[in-house]
Amino acid sequence: MSGDTTKVRRRLVLKMSGEALASSASDETIDAAVVERLALEIATAREELDLELAIVVGGGNIWRGTTGTGQGMDRTTSDTMGMLATVINALALQDAVERVGPPTRVLSAVHMAEVAEPYIRRRAIRHLEKGRVVIFAAGMGNPYFTTDTSAALRAAEIEAVMLLKGTHSGVDGVYNADPKLDPTAVRYDKLEFMDVVNQDLRVMDLTAITFCKDNGLPVLVFDLMGPGNLRRALAGEEIGTLIQ
Ligand code: UDP
Repeated sequence: MSGDTTKVRRRLVLKMSGEALASSASDETIDAAVVERLALEIATAREELDLELAIVVGGGNIWRGTTGTGQGMDRTTSDTMGMLATVINALALQDAVERVGPPTRVLSAVHMAEVAEPYIRRRAIRHLEKGRVVIFAAGMGNPYFTTDTSAALRAAEIEAVMLLKGTHSGVDGVYNADPKLDPTAVRYDKLEFMDVVNQDLRVMDLTAITFCKDNGLPVLVFDLMGPGNLRRALAGEEIGTLIQ
């Protein structure tokens, strides 16, 4: 429960991969033009729809735990590098969003007082109530997890009504086969959590999906990069695949 606060506006969590900030045209890990376009989508949707929006950004454009372990690195060290990568992305996103719209706060699960506020659940909720876009950084602060799981955890903690998983690879939802390899692949409008698990549909990692299932947190998978898609997803329009 959120204590003395009253939930009035819809509260949503958007998960975006670090690669959403990268350039498809060049080898930039963070492409200012791409981030600016995303920021504009975020600011516009947030303003038009009057909702509370928190964002979890990944770090895969810079570093993933598996990048290091594949080279013989210690898993915990490599995962910590991945978490730090998410902080870099969070700052890039914060900068871009604030240039076009609402105030933001980066809340980091790893303490770095000079850079970001620490993650404190009640503070996150307070920021949202005050109309700030909250960007959760550094995942959960624990190795062996991904930012998908972090997004699910944060969404549950702040009592968001839904987790929106924005994809960046051009796939606009969950299909019965890989649409890039199989032209007959069909997109699901709706799915149940158990379908995702039983059919091994690669929506999010299994830890994240089972967490959402266990906690009754619906997940909407949609193409984040399409113009206007974020607004449609946040508005509750039919888009992508809804898992519940
Ligand atoms: N990570 C972690 N704990 C967390 C969240 C992330 O250790 O709670 C590390 C993990 O190594 C992961 C990396 O941070 O590979 C970057 O996150 P992720 O792979 O989820 O980023 P995305 O693919 O969404 O860009």
